[in-house]
Amino acid sequence: MQSSAAFASWISAMPKAELHVHLDGTLRPSRLLDRAAKHGFDIPYRSVEDVTDAYAFENLQSFLDLYYMGTSVIRDEEDFYLLMLDYLSACRDQHITHTEIMIEPQSYLPSGVSLATMMSGFKQAMAEAQAGWGQSVLLILSLLRHLPERDGLEVLEQAHRACPDGFVAIGLASSELGHPPADFTELYARARSLGYRATAHAGEEGPAGFVADSLDLLGVERIDHGVRSAEDPALLARLSREGIPLTVCPLSNVKLKVFDSMANHNLLQLLAAGVRVTVNSDDPTYFGGFLNENFIALHEHLRLTAEQAARINRHAFEASFLPAPARAEKLAELDRYLLAHARP
Ligand SMILES: [Zn+2]
Repeated sequence: MQSSAAFASWISAMPKAELHVHLDGTLRPSRLLDRAAKHGFDIPYRSVEDVTDAYAFENLQSFLDLYYMGTSVIRDEEDFYLLMLDYLSACRDQHITHTEIMIEPQSYLPSGVSLATMMSGFKQAMAEAQAGWGQSVLLILSLLRHLPERDGLEVLEQAHRACPDGFVAIGLASSELGHPPADFTELYARARSLGYRATAHAGEEGPAGFVADSLDLLGVERIDHGVRSAEDPALLARLSREGIPLTVCPLSNVKLKVFDSMANHNLLQLLAAGVRVTVNSDDPTYFGGFLNENFIALHEHLRLTAEQAARINRHAFEASFLPAPARAEKLAELDRYLLAHARP
């Protein structure tokens, strides 16, 4: 117990990077309620406790129902500003000094919200967090794979025209099954030709083959989730050899039943195989914890050591889409922390 408490305070204060978080998955229960009240929406919850209870969903569909209700109350520039500021404030509290956030315009565009409205709110919050506590942020244009590729292409062109410096990379999220990487080759070719970096969800519910196809057909530089890569030893060897980062989300994986318990999560197996594993929160307010809570759960249930946690966090800074000088600065800051704070 003593060692758990020491680990928790050591990891919590460590400067960390997060590479896999969906902004819509950071909506706080209190914010859901206050936005619904502001817009006069009738939702079936009256208190923070009601919403928190609902967040204890039991299956993917109840999660998605709640998630889309959350996005439906975010409508105007102030809403997007507060959604971003809430998450960046959590980054400050969690010592996440650099974060790469997945933004999903396709959740909002159909209800008439413009990309300009979203980005204006985001930029205001990002500027405040940068000025206030030096928060480093990059945005990933995350496209939804249950929608057709041409829809993603349209959003990409629109985003590129409206805010050419707004996004550093593109990503691909939502349900994998029935929506293989092969369906999105044109989207990724176009994004890369415009200078975007590339990542994609693969090997979460989809098979290991989707991980290989995302690398080969889409040209991604890192894989979001990728835990099912362990089912294919040759793929695992390739990920290790080529240094492909995986943005693993342990609490999310357990909540969505990719693994039946944290004790059965394969993160240590991936790490032992030499894969550049990182730890991330995915949809933190829905999955029971932000980044620190993910590390602490791994320590408690898998006996993740301080050395392994430090190595994982180093991978995250190394795998970030930051320009090299900024990345080096963040790594130096991490080294200073590790030198000054004895491992628990
Ligand atoms: Zn995700």
